[in-house]
Amino acid sequence: MPPIVRFAPSPTGRIHIGNARTALINFLFVTRDRGRFILRFDDTDVARSRKDYAEAIEADLEWLGIVPDAVVHQSQRFGLYDAAAAKLRAAGRLYPAYETADELERRRKRQQARGLPPIYDRAALHLTAEDRAALEAEGRRPHWRFRLDPAVMRWDDLVRGESHIDAASLSDPVLIREDGTYLYTLPSVVDDLDLSISHIIRGEDHVTNTAVQIQLFEALAGSGAAPVFGHHNLLTTASGEGLSKRSGALSIGTLREEGIEALAVAACAVLTGTSDAVHPIQSLEALAAQFNFSHVSRNQAKFDPAELKTLSARTLHQMPFEAAQARLAAFGIAGPKAEAFWHATRANLETFHDVAGWWGVVAGEIAPLIEEADFIAAARRALPAEPWDQATWGQWTNLLKTETGRKGRALFHPLRLALTGREQGPELAGLLPLIGRAKAEARLSGRAA
Ligand code: GLU
Repeated sequence: MPPIVRFAPSPTGRIHIGNARTALINFLFVTRDRGRFILRFDDTDVARSRKDYAEAIEADLEWLGIVPDAVVHQSQRFGLYDAAAAKLRAAGRLYPAYETADELERRRKRQQARGLPPIYDRAALHLTAEDRAALEAEGRRPHWRFRLDPAVMRWDDLVRGESHIDAASLSDPVLIREDGTYLYTLPSVVDDLDLSISHIIRGEDHVTNTAVQIQLFEALAGSGAAPVFGHHNLLTTASGEGLSKRSGALSIGTLREEGIEALAVAACAVLTGTSDAVHPIQSLEALAAQFNFSHVSRNQAKFDPAELKTLSARTLHQMPFEAAQARLAAFGIAGPKAEAFWHATRANLETFHDVAGWWGVVAGEIAPLIEEADFIAAARRALPAEPWDQATWGQWTNLLKTETGRKGRALFHPLRLALTGREQGPELAGLLPLIGRAKAEARLSGRAA
């Protein structure tokens, strides 16, 4: 059976590179085995969830190369959660509790003072129908807790291997709040069942939820109903802090605006904190072919924005023309010169936007910088006849070397300034045939061309 996975963000902000890590690992996992990738919006919190965030998340994923096979919104699926809650109530696994947050806090403090673990004492399980009626008459509304089975829950984690959590060490989790709204746990399990999710791949901040969720899967669908779990390590800042949705700087949207390449974000998001070196990739398929859960470590995965920037540039330096062609065309760079232009300039790009400036140098008008007029005049007179190719630069400058005795920077730099108007740039052997004789001659005469 091909795997079915889901990426389940809450649309309460933009996604950042740490969220992208989860999305990409899921996507790579199913790409290889031709499985399905479901985008599930965890938007049961209707007050904080926003449609524009959901749309932006979809756009960010698409930019990264992830197009989901299906998109579901939890806010449209309350009927399923209500039915599951009814089933749990009927089985005696969901019970009403009336304690206020203050009461629970006081109880926890007493437990701690006595050296006991701060676990909910299940007092509500002992309430009679009269007790409940009396509490409700006071105006209290119940929240609903899932009655855990005090068993050790075991699973074979795709990343962490044999794992276990003793459910007896946990409080019965609240699934439904006083106001009837659902916390994340129940809708998540209900949807994972309904959508036949085969593998739950997510950050290790969710390890602690796994015992409860396995019990919920089994309470709703029988023993063995839980999918396979895999919990990857989280990306952190260089100082080891978690990335937060609110630190907008690392949002996918911002990285994109800064001109960072999507494939660099993907490589950095996935490979950071694995035993594989972070390196440029040419496609998500290529990354999928080499990604291996056994390479994901349990150590922190420190994310370095400077490394991402370098990786982005290196991604461009190795990008084949076919991958760049449509994007070049969007800058008006098309036609017979486009491929040679790409090969001449890609090694000098920091971001893709830089192509615009270099296209201006070869096809537009620039103001030449003439520093050593006599030498430049001699160079102009020595310009070979066309047709020009990659070898022209070498032939021309060899000639000038013999003629003037100049070499190295003294030979090349004044030519670069005159021909490109810039201090630095791509190899002139590649640029010169693209600039062409007419423009070169004009520039060497000091004319804007
Ligand atoms: N909405 C949850 C989150 O963003 C999903 C967790 C899960 O994958 O189960 O953390």
